[in-house]
Amino acid sequence: MLRSAVSRSSSTGHGISLIPWKRATFDAICLSLSPHSEDDLLLDSFGRQARKLRLSVTDRCNFRCDFCMPGNPVWLDPKEVLTFEEITRVATITARLGVTNIRLSGGEPLVRKDIERLVKMLVAVPGIKAVGLTTNGALLKEKARPLKEGGLHCVTVSIHSLKPDRYHEITGTKDMFWRVMQGLEEARDVGFERVKVNCVVTKGCNEDEILDFAKLAHDADVSVRFIEYMPFDGSKVWDAERVLSGEEIIRRIEEKYELVPLERQHGATAVHHKFADGSSGEIGIIASMTKPFCSDCDRIRLKADGNMVPCLFSIAEYDVKSLLRRGASDDDISDFLRRSFMLKSKGVESMLEQNLELKHVRPMYTIGG
Ligand code: SAM
Ligand code: SF4
Repeated sequence: MLRSAVSRSSSTGHGISLIPWKRATFDAICLSLSPHSEDDLLLDSFGRQARKLRLSVTDRCNFRCDFCMPGNPVWLDPKEVLTFEEITRVATITARLGVTNIRLSGGEPLVRKDIERLVKMLVAVPGIKAVGLTTNGALLKEKARPLKEGGLHCVTVSIHSLKPDRYHEITGTKDMFWRVMQGLEEARDVGFERVKVNCVVTKGCNEDEILDFAKLAHDADVSVRFIEYMPFDGSKVWDAERVLSGEEIIRRIEEKYELVPLERQHGATAVHHKFADGSSGEIGIIASMTKPFCSDCDRIRLKADGNMVPCLFSIAEYDVKSLLRRGASDDDISDFLRRSFMLKSKGVESMLEQNLELKHVRPMYTIGG
């Protein structure tokens, strides 16, 4: 059973207190930490290495999904949002520290003007092997080709219902369903190898569509990833009772389709399954709440406001933007990132093990998932 509340701070095991407030400054961290590691890697105190950077490029969004956005979001002042040059500089520094993969998210990344220019800049960063993007798909029909031409490697489209009316209700939109479907189609047509679909499942809402999504995966050669509902909704109404477990989702799919689980890759959020009948579609389960994989988590997150967040559940944020804007050297920023990342907490897995209460930390649209 999941709980609802979170502990506000913890110890890293190094006698270092987490800074329990947002926008921790470089100076505060320097004062509070032991000398940095000799390795040129982003390592935390549990020995986990950051290899994937999740970049939220904007907090703005053209949707109002009920499990993510508040009714009346207050957007960041544009001056507070990192520029493409600043984002690329941080990406370059993290790549020197061992990051190889980047995912662009938001808010809605495609509402950020000229996003394809940022893609071009990021794929050119030495050491970066792949740049992906997660989108609600509303602008994908127009953007798929320039993104592909800009060097984007893969696209994930979030679709939470295959029934247009319900889709519009969940996302707070009108007339978007078929546009998003066209965007999905276009992404395939322009040659993205495997287009993925993310579906957040909530009990009493779209759980009756699990088999319809499985059929989509089976018949349309799509990778459908079911995500457990996390306590990061803008309206703070998340309730453990509304989380449908990944295990239950698989059980329901297996009533109709025989599935073969695939070996999970190191650091992967999803466990994938193939269809036993040889269909090339795939089912993914992101059991962030009932079976999280914190022990080999390899992600680091940068918010649109320039705060680095080591873990989705971490309350502490580390202000990289101030360093960027006050002329810090690459070495200073690198040092700051390594020291901050060292403070990454063990994660939700250990919170659940210890029966700690989970509570809303920040809405998902501010961090990008
Ligand atoms: N706007 C884009 C989209 O919807 O794909 C990217 C940003 S969105 C925050 C990133 C992912 O987080 C999406 O797949 C979305 O469905 C998922 N998400 C949002 N709120 C969530 C929640 N409370 N629990 C689980 N996943 C959530
Ligand atoms: Fe926007 Fe994505 Fe959040 Fe929906 S899930 S409100 S599309 S950021």
